[in-house]
Amino acid sequence: MDRREFAKLSALAVAWSSLPLAARDIVASGNDVSQKPVGYAAIGLGTISDIFMRGCANSKAAKITALVTGHPDTKGAKYAAMYGIPKTSIYTYETFDRIRDNPEIDAIYVGLPNSMHCEYTVRGAMAGKHVLCEKPMAISSAECRKMIDACRQAKVKLMIGYRVHYEPLWNRAIQILKSGKIGELESFHGGFFGQQPAGAWRLTKSLGGGGALMDLGIYPLNAIRHITGEEPTDFTAIVSTRDRSGRFAEVEQSMEWTMKFPSGIIASCGCSYGARGPSVLNINGDKGYLVMEPAFNYDGLRLRGEVGGQPIDESSAGKQPYQFTIEAEHFSECIRNHREPESPGEEGLKDMLAIEAIYRAAGAPIA
Ligand code: NAD
Repeated sequence: MDRREFAKLSALAVAWSSLPLAARDIVASGNDVSQKPVGYAAIGLGTISDIFMRGCANSKAAKITALVTGHPDTKGAKYAAMYGIPKTSIYTYETFDRIRDNPEIDAIYVGLPNSMHCEYTVRGAMAGKHVLCEKPMAISSAECRKMIDACRQAKVKLMIGYRVHYEPLWNRAIQILKSGKIGELESFHGGFFGQQPAGAWRLTKSLGGGGALMDLGIYPLNAIRHITGEEPTDFTAIVSTRDRSGRFAEVEQSMEWTMKFPSGIIASCGCSYGARGPSVLNINGDKGYLVMEPAFNYDGLRLRGEVGGQPIDESSAGKQPYQFTIEAEHFSECIRNHREPESPGEEGLKDMLAIEAIYRAAGAPIA
């Protein structure tokens, strides 16, 4: 998609998102309410799958029709009761491949730890199901390529859960950028910071694949790539682990990095698993600027700045899980109308190539 097409899509997204859900169903091509909803099997019933399932419950285009869990009698039974799923549609990781025989499942939603994304995407594709996989797409570019190939061979769609691409306030920001009112883009400052408790799977190399960059830094990285439409070519990076308790024995605590794009745009970003800090993206042009803060949260996003010489201050109206509803509806529409998702597997691969380059620049290569 070129920039003009993207701007058009962004404008549509803003108008569309201001409509109530029922009206959107009628307007959105392919999400005709008279059609059966696209059926999703949620894999891994943790934090993000819980939100995704609630997002689907608010939609007429997406429905949770199956569950995959290591705890079928507890977590499985609980969610099955919530979403009216028959016992026969609760699978374990061992019986997962039998989803092939379940016509109520059109797609899988992969809400597993990062290092399991590749295996379940490939197995899902081999079972003939479309795949909506959480970010980061996998833990190496080699795995990303394997996932893209498997989905291509099986002729199923692959989308990565970059929910920010579907957030109306982000699309509004992109509209402003395309209008030229902040002039030529010069630079970005981005960050996403939080705390991970000792023992979390995110702090292990085997499940997380890397540390804060893989999980949090990917947000400003992806947003900047998405906005510029360019791939970064030059990197500097530095990692630091100050906490000596052993919590960060396997992955970095904090990462700061810079990137340069072919047009000359530069970006400076940071992330941490051991710091309190904002979720933020500053976008600086030669005539104005935008600040999205919070930038990457599930709701409550706020866009401020100076546009055309005037201050702006806008907030997102939606409440969690609306981003997941929009994301699920987008993928459902792609499945119904044989269209490529806006955030396909290739988008996840490009982020992973940049992540690998950043780790290399920091002297802590992961691939
Ligand atoms: P979580 O720990 O809350 O859930 C993970 C699920 O996987 C659990 O149900 C767990 O039982 C299951 N699981 C299966 N095998 C496991 C194993 N060997 N070790 C640990 N858990 C195992 O994690 P989460 O926060 O839901 O994250 C899951 C994925 O979603 C990650 O890839 C993460 O990056 C992504 N995520 C995306 C967003 C977003 O906004 N798009 C937000 C949070 C997480």
